Amino acid sequence: MVGRRRNSEAWCFRDLFRAFFGSSNRRALELYRNTSIMNQLKSSLVELITETSTNLPPDVREAMSFAIEQETPGTQSAQALGIIATNIDMAQQDEGPICQDTGMPTFLVHTPVGVNQIHVKQAIREAVAEATRHGKLRPNSVDSLTGKNSGDNLGAETPVIHFEQWEEDDIEVKLILKGGGCENKNIQYSLPCELEHLGRADRNLEGVRKCILHAVWQAQGQGCAPGAVGVCIGSDRAHGYDLAKNQLFRTLDDENPVPELAKLEAEIMEEANRIGVGSMGFGGKVSLIGCKVAAANRLPASFFVSVAYDCWAFRRLGVRLDAETGAITRWLYRDPKREVARIARAEGFPLTGREVVLKAPLSEDAVRALRVGDVVLISGEVFTGRDNVHAYLMKNPPPVDMQGSVLYHCGPVMLKQGEEWTVKAAGPTTSSREEPYQATVIEKYGVRAVIGKGGMGAKTSTALKKSGAVYLNAIGGAAQFYARTVDKVLGVHLMEFGIPEAMWHLRVNNFAAIVTMDAHGNSLHAQVERETGEKLRELQHAG
Ligand code: SF4
Repeated sequence: MVGRRRNSEAWCFRDLFRAFFGSSNRRALELYRNTSIMNQLKSSLVELITETSTNLPPDVREAMSFAIEQETPGTQSAQALGIIATNIDMAQQDEGPICQDTGMPTFLVHTPVGVNQIHVKQAIREAVAEATRHGKLRPNSVDSLTGKNSGDNLGAETPVIHFEQWEEDDIEVKLILKGGGCENKNIQYSLPCELEHLGRADRNLEGVRKCILHAVWQAQGQGCAPGAVGVCIGSDRAHGYDLAKNQLFRTLDDENPVPELAKLEAEIMEEANRIGVGSMGFGGKVSLIGCKVAAANRLPASFFVSVAYDCWAFRRLGVRLDAETGAITRWLYRDPKREVARIARAEGFPLTGREVVLKAPLSEDAVRALRVGDVVLISGEVFTGRDNVHAYLMKNPPPVDMQGSVLYHCGPVMLKQGEEWTVKAAGPTTSSREEPYQATVIEKYGVRAVIGKGGMGAKTSTALKKSGAVYLNAIGGAAQFYARTVDKVLGVHLMEFGIPEAMWHLRVNNFAAIVTMDAHGNSLHAQVERETGEKLRELQHAG
């Protein structure tokens, strides 16, 4: 039994049952009730997971609509926002994951006294496994010692579940899905400290302000800007990060009840959007869609500022559940009766006619003719490859001919229907993780184009120049948009690494991306980092 018995109807039903069947059937009745409540609870939680993965909450949609209005039309940031908006609409219409990285499922659960939390935990685990089977969550849980993907998002400490008791009658379950790209941009500061471009951050609110601005700047495009930050001032290292992430359960448009923190949040929103990181780090007017700050007591010797950075694919929802039945009584953050408004201003990717059409495999001449800022439309064969594939290629020959190839940093969501694989979500992953390997892979195997997000470093830039290759930035999180460019799954290699890490052989049509590192040593990422660093310096003494 999940809930305590609280209403007279429940008792009446039991008494009635006894009257008809006698007390020897009590255990059968209990079993029946438990099974039926567990089934209902699981089905409510599958619904919560599905909605969270596929449909952004209204406050995030509103913040993204505002971001689109603010951006200068025709810029790379505006183009990126156009694709993001189309992707958000596609995900909601087709109930597909907004981003292929469905993240670490993190549940915050409040239960009335008397509810069996072991049963609730079991229902959550079963719901996570079922949502994964349905392709609403990517199999994302990897054994940290063996590297083996569990395939169902279950494993040691996965999913993350935090329980609290409360005095209400319902069970409340809140869920956040936060992917690896933005998770890797979380950052913690121990004050006082020296910050690049901002100087010393002291143990006061001015020091905290500098830390948060620095956190937004250091994320650049790698965390799929525009993002939102949850911040905790104080506490200890471990709990500080927890409390920072908890701030992301607040709606983006609420007001902090602590006046000093409300003022700080407003200042950060204004200043961070002057730095100029822009969507996907392309440079632009909108870098941040939310800033939520909490303060917790600390030890006299410690002063931590913990920042949880979330991307634009800010997937957070919640439900209230009847503790007696497991059924959803109310949605949090959204009103399911209200129609979800489209975000995209236009259908698909706004073509200008200046796009460069590329047919893979690519020739060296075609690639050397590209310049930073060019928008390309790729058709033909593409191979996916991320962390495991790159590590493998350092020691082993590729399972396919990679001469002239396009290598896509992507861990897709795939479903097998009969003998055929279909792509359910396929946006780019953060490329900087492959920086130690990329130059070797390009030079050794003749790769001509690498697609990813967030850009790569100096070693890769040198290899692009030497070999005649380019780095193409796809729009992070636009998993539905890019899934629709896949005409056919031609095959899969290295499946022993699990679905996201395998090498998928895809045929794509008009896959849109922006050249952000060319074969002439130019890098938009290095340029934006330099320019935003200058802007950050200007903010050093403001506030
Ligand atoms: S939008 Fe970007 S950072 Fe966010 S989960 Fe997707 S890939 Fe990761």
